[in-house]
Amino acid sequence: MPVNTEELLRILACPKCLGSLAALEENENTAGFACTACQVVFPVREDIPVMLVEEAIDLPTWNAQHSQAKERA
Ligand SMILES: [Zn+2]
Repeated sequence: MPVNTEELLRILACPKCLGSLAALEENENTAGFACTACQVVFPVREDIPVMLVEEAIDLPTWNAQHSQAKERA
């Protein structure tokens, strides 16, 4: 079952700051959820968002690995 990004964006919050997240899309799929306040990305693995601080990826690291991904406005 594909991730319903709009639904998830309503539910999910950054576990660090409880702020809202931005979906990062890659090849029409949601690849991760970014918190711009914390400068981290929570990856989506096998359609499941991994909302763990320990699993968060630094935004610059993410951008280096996912140059194709773009933030959904
Ligand atoms: Zn945050």
